[in-house]
Amino acid sequence: MKLLHELDMPIQYLKGVGEAKARKFEYLGIKTVYDLLTYYPRDYQDRSKVQPIFSLQDGQRETFSGIVLGHTQSAFHRKGIKLTKTCVSDGTGYVYILFFGQSNMDKILPPKSKVFVTGRIRRYRGEIQVTNFEYEIIDEKERELLHTNRIVPIYPLNENVSASIGQRMIRQAVSQAFLTVSDICDMLPAEIILRQQLIDYWTALKNIHLPESHEEYKKARKRLVFDEFFLLQLAFGISQKSIVAKEKGIKYFVQGKMVETFVNSLPFTLTGAQKRVIRELLHDMSQPVPMNRLLHGDVGSGKTVVAACAALIACENGYQTAFMSPTEILAEQHFLTLEHLLNPLKIRLGLLTSSTKKRQRDSLLALTREGEIDILIGTHALIQDDVAFKQLGLCIIDEQHRFGVVQRSTLKEKARDKDNQSVTPDILVMTATPIPRTLALTLYGDLETSVIDELPPNRRPVITRCRSEQSMDKIFSFIRQEVLDGRQAYIVYPLIEESEEINLKAAVSMFEELKEVFPEFQLGLLHGQMKVQEKNETMTAFYNQQINILVSTTVIEVGIDVANATIMLIEHADRFGLAQLHQLRGRVGRGAHKSYCILMANQKTADLVNSSAPINLIDDPTSTVFKGTKRLKTMCETNDGFRIAEVDLEIRGPGEFFGTRQHGMPELKIANIIYDARVLEIARKEAFALIQDDPFLTGIDHQALKKTFFYEFRDRLELGSVG
Ligand code: ADP
Ligand code: MG
Repeated sequence: MKLLHELDMPIQYLKGVGEAKARKFEYLGIKTVYDLLTYYPRDYQDRSKVQPIFSLQDGQRETFSGIVLGHTQSAFHRKGIKLTKTCVSDGTGYVYILFFGQSNMDKILPPKSKVFVTGRIRRYRGEIQVTNFEYEIIDEKERELLHTNRIVPIYPLNENVSASIGQRMIRQAVSQAFLTVSDICDMLPAEIILRQQLIDYWTALKNIHLPESHEEYKKARKRLVFDEFFLLQLAFGISQKSIVAKEKGIKYFVQGKMVETFVNSLPFTLTGAQKRVIRELLHDMSQPVPMNRLLHGDVGSGKTVVAACAALIACENGYQTAFMSPTEILAEQHFLTLEHLLNPLKIRLGLLTSSTKKRQRDSLLALTREGEIDILIGTHALIQDDVAFKQLGLCIIDEQHRFGVVQRSTLKEKARDKDNQSVTPDILVMTATPIPRTLALTLYGDLETSVIDELPPNRRPVITRCRSEQSMDKIFSFIRQEVLDGRQAYIVYPLIEESEEINLKAAVSMFEELKEVFPEFQLGLLHGQMKVQEKNETMTAFYNQQINILVSTTVIEVGIDVANATIMLIEHADRFGLAQLHQLRGRVGRGAHKSYCILMANQKTADLVNSSAPINLIDDPTSTVFKGTKRLKTMCETNDGFRIAEVDLEIRGPGEFFGTRQHGMPELKIANIIYDARVLEIARKEAFALIQDDPFLTGIDHQALKKTFFYEFRDRLELGSVG
């Protein structure tokens, strides 16, 4: 018995494929039988239930077949796009397939050809029309069993290859592969298959490609989704185990005197969630095993004081802390905040960014090397080669998703114990971008998670509205009133320079206009291309309320903390991503005053956002209008960062949610992070239980699994301890 991946057989040896076709398959990344069988369909057409044309239902997605009778062309509405109607009949009636902007229809759908069509049916002025369709021409000479009268798989093809590779070619190769290959052994232990009521692997593969029924398809998919998550979680489990087994960590002595003094010095009491998370951190740090913890907390939930507590423990034990942030502004902000908070405790802080002057940098590096700096805060500058610590024991990484996995480990390698020997530091990763749990497990499955799921008291949700240009006067007088009441406002623009192509208002030019709108107030300007010094001066002036209205690009997105600011006006809000909007909005609502977020969009978008109609009524779910509208509507409906992250994930898909590869986000072949959340949890439990029992996969019934595991992760893992 073989494992599927041992079938490295090139597909060109499959009957009916051959050398020329095999080359075409390579465009899809398919070289071997294994590649082919794991090239899963993206959809199915149920051609076993072909409807007679006369009975096609208005508004439904249905499948019919018929003969192409001919085409009629008419000039059509917007921008002179041609509309072609292709008439198809099956003897019970006529359907018109609507094509826009196609000219050589006789080539695409030659008259007299037999077609299968699946699409949205519209009964309009006595005609049956179909839009949003897929079609396939059936060649009568071919064996039809594979392509008709059954549930037919539809494979993902990109436009580049669809001319040379067709659905039928893939289907034929797949079915040939199933005829050629057999006797594949299952990688999952029988126990798990039974417990989770899964079907066997080979059946699952067959039925994912060529299911006889919807039921079969569902079972097949369940099995393959399980496998995919299971292997991934197994990898996390094994790497966790190997850290425990191999790496020498620091066992901190956690008496917590400094933490206690610090907490008592704060002008507020910690929330229950903050206390709980601090306990979790201290527990981890007191263990000999290195801490690997992800701290999750919405904007403004108070992660900084929690991080400070961890740093204090390190400090008390004679260790240094490195605190890495993704942007300069954020690093500066952390530096200022921590300096302010930790000053009474005589903690020595340093700030290192790429704009730190050479002389200052040299002396800072010397101090760090000699252990005269307790907490070194900075940007990527921290991981440069010449940055060395005397005794680095704790790494805090903020907004981890903006860093690559490599950067995390580069920082880690700088850790040293008191004898200047390499040591594995404790790691605290923080993020304000709420990551849905499923995504967190897929991305950071090797980290323990802590969540601050409670905002400090007296925080009221920010009132959020979507408006258009028409309401500008009203909005300005509203801002005026708030400022007269002593509050402050942010006005945010997406770009710095006015660009002619995209007619966006730019912060710089709008700044001039706004000065005329609000001659009685002090306005400040903040954008990414200003010198650090200028930025700092502007920010300080805003803190000290010498500036009433801060006009800005998105540089203020992260970390800026002015409790007196109550208005956030975002221009061209429909062009911002959801996470970004949520971050921006998080700048207000930080004090006791009622706060507002006004999202500006064009009239049409604003109308859609403000109407009560659900968004999915809009025709095309992929259009930018749809996405923009859905984002703004979500912002108006909720302040809950986790809900927002879920919608974001839905709109963008996981690949885009965090730029895929670079950040170590595994590409999933079949599982869907949003819809298969439950399976992920179960697979994780099973995988971790298995490793608990057999950490090195030595059991006789784990051999197939072990082989598959190494095959799947052959490029990615450095899991020294298994092998
Ligand atoms: P974030 O989680 O976004 O990093 P911060 O740590 O910047 O949040 O905290 C946001 C603001 O809330 C800061 O001004 C901080 O001093 C304040 N804060 C933190 N914890 C509390 C608390 N328990 N009660 C009141 N205010 C708090
Ligand atoms: Mg913060």
